[in-house]
Amino acid sequence: MLTDYHVHLRPDDPGTDAATYFTAANADRYRETAESRGVAELGVSEHIHRFTAALDVWQHPFWRQSAQDDLDRYVEFVREETDLRLGIEADYIRGTEDRMANLLDAHEWDYVLGSVHFLGEHAVDFDDETDIWRYEASAERVWRRYFEAIAESALTGLYDVITHPDLVKIWGKGRPAPSKDPRYFYEPAVEAMLEANVAMEVSTAGLRKPVGEIYPARPMIEMAVDAGVPIALSSDAHTPDQLGFRYDEAVKLLEDCGVKEIAVFERRERRLEPLG
Ligand SMILES: [Zn+2]
Ligand SMILES: [Zn+2]
Repeated sequence: MLTDYHVHLRPDDPGTDAATYFTAANADRYRETAESRGVAELGVSEHIHRFTAALDVWQHPFWRQSAQDDLDRYVEFVREETDLRLGIEADYIRGTEDRMANLLDAHEWDYVLGSVHFLGEHAVDFDDETDIWRYEASAERVWRRYFEAIAESALTGLYDVITHPDLVKIWGKGRPAPSKDPRYFYEPAVEAMLEANVAMEVSTAGLRKPVGEIYPARPMIEMAVDAGVPIALSSDAHTPDQLGFRYDEAVKLLEDCGVKEIAVFERRERRLEPLG
């Protein structure tokens, strides 16, 4: 079994229109490409900040600019016009947990992906005026705050999968690296995933980013496998062509790390299926 759950039907560009992308024909394009790449289990997980309902949760300027779509319409479209699993990529924003829970509880997801893109008001993966690296004193601080947020996100109970779990490395050599062994930062995050009984995503999206590596780094995968944290495999595709992106490398890495099974989700129940 190969899965791709972290998938966006529509691009991140705020100038685009949901009606163009939330169509049965577009979903078919994703399904056909996934099939041709051996990905049997396919789901979609639009960014929560694309939906107007997200403004009840958080009012960050980026969210205000991005919130255009109707959440009920998305859910209805995926359930009634496609055979895709229904997911959502929901940020962990400290202090908004109750409001986020209310929003998520209103729908029957197959899975909810938890992401840390923001630390306070500042972004981990935007190279603009919101970039956390313009505001923090050291790489140690950025990494510590990022992985603390990952641990907190797991423990909220809001999420089934913790996505791109070392996204903080996205810029690669474009930002300073902490001098400590990165396992120092990974360990509490992996412990929290174990305690919270959530899966950890292994994502090939990092191969498309400046860092040029799978998320997360091999030592974090090994740590999760040793601890018994289930692994979920995804590409974070934003176009059909990105589905199952460079999965041969991901499968090899997972096999090298001793992963034999991957997580599969339906109506927020998790089971394990053989990898490959
Ligand atoms: Zn993300
Ligand atoms: Zn995503």
